Amino acid sequence: MIYLDYQATTPVAPEVARAMQPWIEEKFANPHSPSRWGHEAEAAIEVARKQVDKAIGLRGGSVAFTGSATEALNWALKGTVEKAATSRKSGRNRIITVATEHAAVLDTCEWLAGQGVDLTILPVQKDGRLDLDLLARELDKRVLLVAVMQVNNEIGVTQPISEIAKMAHDAGALMLCDAVQAFGRMELCSGPDLVAVSAHKIHGSKGIGALWMKKGAEPAPFIHGGGQERGLRSGTLSPELCVGFGAAAKLADERLTRDYDHVEKLWKAAVAALGPGWVINGSTAHRYYGNLNIRREGVDGARLLADFRDIAFSLGSACASGSGRPSHVLRALGLDYRQARSSIRLGFGRYTTQKELTDACRRIAANAHAQEKLDA
Ligand code: PLP
Repeated sequence: MIYLDYQATTPVAPEVARAMQPWIEEKFANPHSPSRWGHEAEAAIEVARKQVDKAIGLRGGSVAFTGSATEALNWALKGTVEKAATSRKSGRNRIITVATEHAAVLDTCEWLAGQGVDLTILPVQKDGRLDLDLLARELDKRVLLVAVMQVNNEIGVTQPISEIAKMAHDAGALMLCDAVQAFGRMELCSGPDLVAVSAHKIHGSKGIGALWMKKGAEPAPFIHGGGQERGLRSGTLSPELCVGFGAAAKLADERLTRDYDHVEKLWKAAVAALGPGWVINGSTAHRYYGNLNIRREGVDGARLLADFRDIAFSLGSACASGSGRPSHVLRALGLDYRQARSSIRLGFGRYTTQKELTDACRRIAANAHAQEKLDA
């Protein structure tokens, strides 16, 4: 099995599994109970919180654990709207986001629009980047929040988050960044007030994410109950998931440059192994290099996927794959239906070897070539 689907999820690091184990097998106390065991679990969670905060690397804020980045994004969007509706910012009821955002942002924004929020979804340019002049024209004093991701999950293209945050702030708005695909893989851009991250994209476990909140920008409480997470997000925290997330974040932080350089080398090797005839979807200059989304005239991506049962890769985003819906991101780049259908995404990272990647690329290229010949 050659695993080339690092945007969907990543293998759990051995260090993470080892860190989690005692909290699964022996240390089962509720971290919110006053017993000695409870305090021990609580202390371990606080260490993990610091590790995640350090890896995020932004100043003046705090981390709240959530069940996923999807939850963190729902909370950030809905909680910010709710808070504004009951505070002095109540004159602001407009959200600006971008057509290539993840469904966790787009669908939540659409839901909010159904509740009366004024929603603007900006298009992107052919290379997947947001036109900042367009954003500047849209920013006015009704804008409450600007939501833009750092690295796109489907095409790997990066957005100029610090500039966008500055523009949002100059207009008196807040900035939310979906940093799920950037966190632990490249440095996070400074500037946003709210940042969503997920453990399972950085060799942690599924089932835990976090929302980083700048002091003063905390959204209204999202889940009500026992008052955990400073009353903002109730629910018993899982020590094993938090400890695992902390270990994954620490490891990613320590290895950031090494992993990034490794990924850049892999990208170059993959492009060379694929050979001519492929077009890279999205900017080649502004990107995270562990995401290679490519298309080739006359190729059926789904057929490629079916032909290679021993190579895990993807057609579009993990969420859209299998739904039969053409990718909204590829359509936002201006690709037609056939071009979108001929696109595949290869995702690689820390544990991918150059040999397995180039072997997979050569086999995929040969199969695509054979498809072309057959159809000609
Ligand atoms: N945002 C982006 C860019 C993603 O890639 C994903 C996961 O695919 C999410 C949000 C949702 O993350 P989670 O799986 O933690 O809910």
